Amino acid sequence: MASIKTKAIVIKSTDSKDKDKIIHLFSLENGIMLASMRGVKGDKAKLKSAKEIFCFGDFVIEQTKNINIVTSVDIIDNFYDLSKDIDRYYEGCAILDIVDKIAKESDPQLFIEIIKALKTLCYDQVKKYYCIDKFLLAIFKALGYGFITDRCPSCNSLLNIRYFDFNDGSFVCPACKTALCQQVSNACYASLRILDSTPYDKLRLIKLGGMGEVQAFNFLSKNFQWRTGFTLIEF
Ligand SMILES: [Zn+2]
Repeated sequence: MASIKTKAIVIKSTDSKDKDKIIHLFSLENGIMLASMRGVKGDKAKLKSAKEIFCFGDFVIEQTKNINIVTSVDIIDNFYDLSKDIDRYYEGCAILDIVDKIAKESDPQLFIEIIKALKTLCYDQVKKYYCIDKFLLAIFKALGYGFITDRCPSCNSLLNIRYFDFNDGSFVCPACKTALCQQVSNACYASLRILDSTPYDKLRLIKLGGMGEVQAFNFLSKNFQWRTGFTLIEF
């Protein structure tokens, strides 16, 4: 039996047998891992707080032939305050859901991005959608689907009115738009640009106008579906 120690976050937790849980971990060193937590549903269970989603810590996992078993967890943060605010809790769940959909193997950059997004969501008083919008912008960039630009990639003209080509994943000008393009408002684009260039620890200081963050989320959500084939959960 091999035992490994890994930094990981619980992104999904499901019931298994009477007192067990199966957790889906996103691990810094190993990517997505499934592991069983034995007897953790009782009030007195030693590892009970580590079975919940958002639990981030150092997990020790025994790898047997058929199953991974969590034997100890040193919790770094379980982002408990998220459970005190329903909006922030669901925004956090949506971030974990994105990870569940796109993560496979070890991806340190994505791992750091998740922790930064959850920390900001949990401890800084940022407005709804700011964290998930920023997180999605980072995801697209990391996947090679970055699209923030001031010029039309087809004709190089300066973009004052923007259309988004979902087929291509890029902004184009009115002259280059096709039937698959959708107009993106200036409030939406300004929000995307500001969120993209503002670090997580400064998000609490910005204020976007015209419900730009909501428009940005709707746009990013649609782009996520086009780029990955997955639908984001509503929250
Ligand atoms: Zn053009």
